[in-house]
Amino acid sequence: MELPFLTIRELSLLLKRKEVSPVEVTKTILDRIDGIEGKVHAYISILREESLKASKRAEELISSGDYIGTLHGVPIGVKDIFVMKGTRTTCGSKILENFAPPYDATIVERLKNAGAIVVGKNNMDEFAMGSSTENSYFGPTRNPWDLERVPGGSSGGSAAAVSASLCFASIGTDTGGSIRQPAAFCGITGLKPTYGRVSRFGMIAFASSLDQGGPLTKTVEDAALMLNVFAGGDNKDSTSVHVPVPDYVSHLNGEIKGIRVGVPKEYFIKGIDFEVEKAVKKAIELVEDLGCSIEEITLPHTEYAVSSYYIIAPSEASSNLARYDGVRYGLRVPDSNSLRDMYNRTRAEGFGAEVKRRIMIGTYALSAGYYDAYYLKAQRVRTLIKRDFEEAFKKVDVIMTPTSPEAAFKIGEKTDDPLKMYLSDIFTIPCNLAGLPGIAIPCGFTSNGLPIGLQILGKPFDEETILRVAHAYEIHTNWSEKRPPI
Ligand code: GLN
Repeated sequence: MELPFLTIRELSLLLKRKEVSPVEVTKTILDRIDGIEGKVHAYISILREESLKASKRAEELISSGDYIGTLHGVPIGVKDIFVMKGTRTTCGSKILENFAPPYDATIVERLKNAGAIVVGKNNMDEFAMGSSTENSYFGPTRNPWDLERVPGGSSGGSAAAVSASLCFASIGTDTGGSIRQPAAFCGITGLKPTYGRVSRFGMIAFASSLDQGGPLTKTVEDAALMLNVFAGGDNKDSTSVHVPVPDYVSHLNGEIKGIRVGVPKEYFIKGIDFEVEKAVKKAIELVEDLGCSIEEITLPHTEYAVSSYYIIAPSEASSNLARYDGVRYGLRVPDSNSLRDMYNRTRAEGFGAEVKRRIMIGTYALSAGYYDAYYLKAQRVRTLIKRDFEEAFKKVDVIMTPTSPEAAFKIGEKTDDPLKMYLSDIFTIPCNLAGLPGIAIPCGFTSNGLPIGLQILGKPFDEETILRVAHAYEIHTNWSEKRPPI
């Protein structure tokens, strides 16, 4: 197979045996980006010089016998929400269009230390608010399977880049589904770790109690390889948890006999696309054939998840985004006649429509008099949703659902109706509210050739079980080997 289409595992064997060099691989990926990035627009910035320089360093190390490990010399993408020292980091926003941070995010630092080579910063919805990447100030990303359709969001650039083989993996963030839903739309693997499993240091904050970074990859094994490198506590993020990190790859033994799989009836509702439902049910039958037991479960508060998320996430966002005031960093409009005028005009010009909508909703929900009615109530619902999962996980080891109620929709289809857009997160949001790990993997295609995603949720800090089940499913099917016709 041609170089760009390999998985990390396959490529790493060639790199380790010195059959290809990091410089050669990086050049091949940059050439491919030159060829098709114009159609996909998966990147906000391409780091040509930096990545070639890093690849030379990697090459020197490998040729002098210092091979670090599986990611050594592997070109990856990074969602433009992770800060990188001296490298423009925009978060998809005009307000940070020319912002070059003075340090690396912990995830990025750990990936670099493992020898990975960052070829570019991936496109995203502004401040990770969105489900289609149409909210990027830099223009939308297109789905490599059908260029008229969205790649999902908010990590749409990351998902499209991996799917179109414009990098071997990327890292994204997931606050309400932003790793899993784009992975599903683009036919790849996306893993949202347990809240606290991965450091949020240097990840630009959207909703701090929900945000979590994770890998987007071609296969489940590659996701495990990435997580191995960047999971684990970090003194720079007090919400990261210092518990031991297992070797995720060693758990991928294909053996899933006896694992109890819960199927929540609330996730197979009216309105879900018929082909999505069929593919997911077929996937559940297959894991049953592989020795899992299947049990119908109930998560009774599911229907309130979207409403409570769309109070909690905007509330936290309204507070987090207060720092973009034209004073400390980012955009400042010229010629203002007072401080207040400068604040107003900077924020009015710097933020896009969806970000403004969230700031207004959040500010309203947190204001005196409305706090109890909205924010506090949403937090209480959040607790009920968390308890639903705690009950369910007394009986089952993992939960299987569709990732999204439908396959990728058309560009422009939902932009006029924010509610419609918010509803596409219905199956991914509960997992964030409960802080659980979840993975999306491909499980089929619609009749018009669009990927369908299966979601597997697990107990807190039990990434290894969802990875194991996902991997067993993957090796008994060939969905993850399919590449878009681009
Ligand atoms: N689509 C959801 C939103 O718009 C989730 C975004 C995310 O996970 N970052 O908020």
